[in-house]
Amino acid sequence: MKDLKNIAVIGSGTMGNGIAHVAAQSNLKTILIDIDDNQLNNAMKTISNNLDRQINKNIISTDEKENTLSNISLSTDISECKTLDLVIEAVPEKYDLKASIFKNLDKICNDNTIFASNTSSISISSLGQETNRPDKVIGMHFMNPVPIMKLVEVINTSKTSERTTKEIVDLAKKMKKIPVECNDYPGFVSNRILMPMINEAILCLEQKVAQKEAIDDIMKLGMAHPMGPLRLADLIGLDVCLDIMEVLFKGFDDIKYRPCNLLKEMVSSGFLGKKTGQGFYKY
Ligand code: NAD
Repeated sequence: MKDLKNIAVIGSGTMGNGIAHVAAQSNLKTILIDIDDNQLNNAMKTISNNLDRQINKNIISTDEKENTLSNISLSTDISECKTLDLVIEAVPEKYDLKASIFKNLDKICNDNTIFASNTSSISISSLGQETNRPDKVIGMHFMNPVPIMKLVEVINTSKTSERTTKEIVDLAKKMKKIPVECNDYPGFVSNRILMPMINEAILCLEQKVAQKEAIDDIMKLGMAHPMGPLRLADLIGLDVCLDIMEVLFKGFDDIKYRPCNLLKEMVSSGFLGKKTGQGFYKY
């Protein structure tokens, strides 16, 4: 078994910058890659602000902040992944985009590099089939916000080798996360259960069963959820929620997973939640 030490995170958005943050904080040399320079610069600002928040809460020292930042480098060039131990992909939830990145990485990287996807719902087996190394392809599903949430859902396909799983489980622990394994089905465990609940909450709003605050309060106060489903949808990103519902709907071919109209309308109007300043709530 080898210790994974040099990694890249592809995609520096909501999830990518969080993954780079916790990786660098665990002393992994981390290259954060994006096609968009602005996104990379914003990601560095977000990481720095989130580290400041950890300093203010006495979780880390200023030296640890400096050390974390010094472990991160930024790039727009995917060929920098060539000699790395692990690449974690965190680009938008579109199969064709992820598939083209996996194919490309397979050509660029040495034979030992492990490819992990942070996808919320896309088939890890299918991504593995895009490469000549399906034994080294695995799901590493971090939760949002990454520096705070403990879980990493580790998704094994029928081809993922035991060695790959062990190395990823060990790495997640090194990142101070709690890895929990499951098998590759649409939405895995987390989003197969969470997203239909969020979709149903949006349908309640669409059908005027209750106002948005009431729907969230009922789930918070009655079910002890820390956050209501509509506010959670805003945090995740309504585009991401829609993409996941589409994957479930297609993957199971069952109308119980059909995304509701209000969710589709919000996404086509550009109301994507917290990241655009407007979702079910204003930010
Ligand atoms: P996001 O839109 O915030 O960020 C995606 C980033 O990928 C952007 O910075 C974009 O510029 C970049 N990108 C696009 N094409 C690229 C390419 N070809 N090469 C390099 N970079 C590219 O998305 P996100 O919310 O961070 O989601 C990323 C992945 O994580 C998705 O698969 C999503 O399903 C999953 N996920 C999201 C959440 C969540 O709460 N948002 C939680 C768990 C998993």
